[in-house]
Amino acid sequence: MTEHIAIVGGGTGGTVLANNLAEELGAELDAGEIAITLFNDGPDHVYKPVWLYVAFGQREPADGRRPLRELVDDRVDIRQDYVYDIHHERRQLELVDAIEPVEYDKLVIATGSQLDPERVPGLVEGGHHFYGEDGAQALRDELLTLEGGHIVLSVVGTPHMCPAAPLEFVFMVDDWLRERGRRDDVDVTYTYPIMRVHGNEHIAEWARPRLEERDIGIETMFNAESVDPDAETITSMEGTELDYDLLVAIPPHTGSDLIETAGLGDGGWVDVDQHTLEATGFEDIYAIGDAAQTGVPKAGSAAHYQANVVGQRIASEVRGQPATAVYGGKTICFIETGMDDATFVEFDYENPPEPSEPTQAMHWSKLAYNESYWLTARGLL
Ligand SMILES: Cc1cc2nc3c(=O)[nH]c(=O)nc-3n(C[C@H](O)[C@H](O)[C@H](O)COP(=O)(O)OP(=O)(O)OC[C@H]3O[C@@H](n4cnc5c(N)ncnc54)[C@H](O)[C@@H]3O)c2cc1C
Repeated sequence: MTEHIAIVGGGTGGTVLANNLAEELGAELDAGEIAITLFNDGPDHVYKPVWLYVAFGQREPADGRRPLRELVDDRVDIRQDYVYDIHHERRQLELVDAIEPVEYDKLVIATGSQLDPERVPGLVEGGHHFYGEDGAQALRDELLTLEGGHIVLSVVGTPHMCPAAPLEFVFMVDDWLRERGRRDDVDVTYTYPIMRVHGNEHIAEWARPRLEERDIGIETMFNAESVDPDAETITSMEGTELDYDLLVAIPPHTGSDLIETAGLGDGGWVDVDQHTLEATGFEDIYAIGDAAQTGVPKAGSAAHYQANVVGQRIASEVRGQPATAVYGGKTICFIETGMDDATFVEFDYENPPEPSEPTQAMHWSKLAYNESYWLTARGLL
């Protein structure tokens, strides 16, 4: 009988996993002993890091999109549909556009994060962001016309994708304004919801003096409660009110509704064993990437490493061998520290990040990584 491996989500984690499984289990696929299906609610794979550069006019949204079919091994079936429920006792998936449920033997959830700006009154009307294609384009247009005033970057909720991206934005906007002779006319403030400027204390310690050097105002313990788009103010639960001319807000995030509906975890995040990535309390279900509650940041690099681990584990299980591969928390991140330089961090569950001295070479490495991403997604790097 053919064993069916179902992957829900064709972003970084799901795509790398589909290609990894096709490679690891090529012989079994060719013999018809297994089948792999990748379910995604759209036809394209989206590479989100491009959006940071869209905001500064350096990339277009199309640079971050490729048809999934071009990236995924031909032997993997791609189904464009939204999976809205999982009956784990019967091992079935419910799809929006299919009348019959789909059976699976092994299931991997790779459904990523979604934005939920409606949670903060006034944010949709008053705020801009670079966490989506349209948002990044609208922000680019605002930046181009801003002659003076106050840019407030507010990290409204955590967890959010790429915890370093808000810092990257303020470092980059500082350079961008200086290059245009506008920095003296524009104040920049960065707000963060806890007592430091980043969730990770090592990155926070490294970043704070760099923000201060660049004369970027800092407001910590700022949990945005509401935005008044007419008055152009953002108010925190702690009672601080900031005036803005351009509000760049990292909106609250949530996971896919599927996860709540299927009872796999709260807030759209799947409870997993942080080493095996198995969903807690569910047999033959794994979760990877942003959807998995591992404790590491919601980063594409983490999704990539997790996909490789789950690929090896499933390959072992299919062959009747013990699954020994484990995820040690490995995450890497290039952090732009301006328009022309960047730092790099690598960390895991045991070893904290230690940002290196920013260099121009690291900035070029980040851009090269972004270009070579399409090979990474194909499983070639
Ligand atoms: C501006 C920005 C900059 C970033 N920069 C970096 C960076 O420099 N480095 C880094 O490592 N990470 C970065 N990230 C984070 C990175 O993009 C995410 O962590 C990564 O995409 C997570 O991969 P994933 O596979 O978990 O989810 P995603 O890539 O989000 O893919 C999830 C897919 O599942 C689909 N889906 C969801 N629910 C369902 C369903 N029920 N049925 C069918 N399909 C479904 C979605 O439509 C999507 O296609 C950045 C993110 C942003 C927004």
